[in-house]
Amino acid sequence: MKRIVLKVGSHVLTQHNRLAKDRIENLCNLISKLNNKNYEVILVSSGAVAAGYSKLKLDKSILANRQALSAIGQPHLLGVYEKKLSQYNIITAQVLLTANDFDSRNATHHAKSAIEALLANGVLPIINENDTTATQELVFGDNDQLSAHVAYYFDADMLVILSDIDGYYTKDPRKYDDATIRSVVHQIAQEDLDSAETPNHDFATGGIVTKLKSADFLLQRNRKMFMASGFDLSDIESFLLENQHQGGTLFMPKQ
Ligand code: ADP
Repeated sequence: MKRIVLKVGSHVLTQHNRLAKDRIENLCNLISKLNNKNYEVILVSSGAVAAGYSKLKLDKSILANRQALSAIGQPHLLGVYEKKLSQYNIITAQVLLTANDFDSRNATHHAKSAIEALLANGVLPIINENDTTATQELVFGDNDQLSAHVAYYFDADMLVILSDIDGYYTKDPRKYDDATIRSVVHQIAQEDLDSAETPNHDFATGGIVTKLKSADFLLQRNRKMFMASGFDLSDIESFLLENQHQGGTLFMPKQ
């Protein structure tokens, strides 16, 4: 049995300020196929703020409003997952974490025990940062880095980031036509980790830098990360289900 953490970005999960239900359907279908191929899956899902915004138009530039939107959207988001995954006979569980859950061995052990109990019973844990109460000082602020912690501390073999881009390029492909995809990456340069964050749209919080920080966190701990498109799941399907690396970027330690 292989354990993977799937992290899906808000751009993939939302469209025109609403949840993109067809993409969520495709994701649920992928999770079911992975379960059938002996993968234990932990899902880290963004999209709560956007889901909340589809119900109530609050000004997102105000922190308290974003917290409120997240609180409104989280049960809506989980409801959509629950409905879709029940078609595959998969039971879902909501797990809200904060950086506090990883700041001591005791806390991490506590969280991990719950995850183990869920996975042992075939339940899909759906994790998000507890945006409503997470304090400013101790906050991941983006699910890329939260998911890297989840992957490492909950003993996953690999973190898979499904993004609005199909991999890590030599430079931003939305700005430069001559950018080419990097297929395998062993190390992240310090200057790339230091560069400005470049989220691609309204609800995104990370950009490529938080993905690189996540990759760096895992590479330093001898773990792998795979980054692929969340719009078109064919690259991740061939990688995980057919063992073929066609598209996407594999971050792996040098052997
Ligand atoms: P998500 O919502 O999936 O977390 P983000 O929008 O936060 O995704 O981050 C991905 C975006 O980062 C891409 O759409 C792209 O515009 C930008 N980007 C900047 N530099 C690169 C690069 N070298 N390779 C890939 N994407 C890059």
